Amino acid sequence: MAGELDELRRTVALGCRIVAAAGLTTPLLGHISLRVGRDRVLVRCRGPRERGLLFTTVADVRLVSLDDEGDVGDGYRLPHEYPIHAEILRARPDLVSVLHAHPRSALLGGLARVPLRPVFGAYDIPAFLLADGGVPVYPHAGLVRTAAAGARLARVLGGSAVVLLRGHGVVTAGQDVPQALSRLLALDELLRISVELARLGAAPAEVSEQDRAHLPDLGAAFNEQALWRHHVALLELRGLADAG
Ligand SMILES: [Zn+2]
Repeated sequence: MAGELDELRRTVALGCRIVAAAGLTTPLLGHISLRVGRDRVLVRCRGPRERGLLFTTVADVRLVSLDDEGDVGDGYRLPHEYPIHAEILRARPDLVSVLHAHPRSALLGGLARVPLRPVFGAYDIPAFLLADGGVPVYPHAGLVRTAAAGARLARVLGGSAVVLLRGHGVVTAGQDVPQALSRLLALDELLRISVELARLGAAPAEVSEQDRAHLPDLGAAFNEQALWRHHVALLELRGLADAG
């Protein structure tokens, strides 16, 4: 079990490094959690030698409970916004991993209230599917640092796997870290393209019914696991894959 837990810690740490290396959050902010069992959670915490998300180590990923607050031992503290993770995992037993980040695309798209419409297809099918399903918006720009705020956010998330926090960032979730990460990447792509189209003054038509029939979900092995290996390989290439 200890070996398995260490492997999961490493996955969370690598996920944090990938989010930072892809430029999808501000240097010190953002975190990933992973449910272990019914109400235990591995979560990226803040330690005495904090250096930002890009340099996350396995030691930064602590095993806590959904009810924990503040200090979690060895000089580590839960992130201020741990209620994002605790309340979403509490409200959605079907979810295993929650990811919170501050992509600039989300800030611009949210503040400018850019519509996220399904106007492109095969270019990025997961991003198309997100646009097609609709992206819920949490309208508060403050830190989500209380259980009440976390529960409000979980209600806005509803049955979705992504939520845009206007003036703040995004939360994505999934069955594991690669799935939560793949949803962050798809949401960021959708936001970037939508912001750019708005800047161009373009309002393309939505993908036609006929074309939709040719936009299948290509599955987790491709959309999530291959994408995960790609980003881990990029970390290796940059000398950033050693999470301790
Ligand atoms: Zn935040």
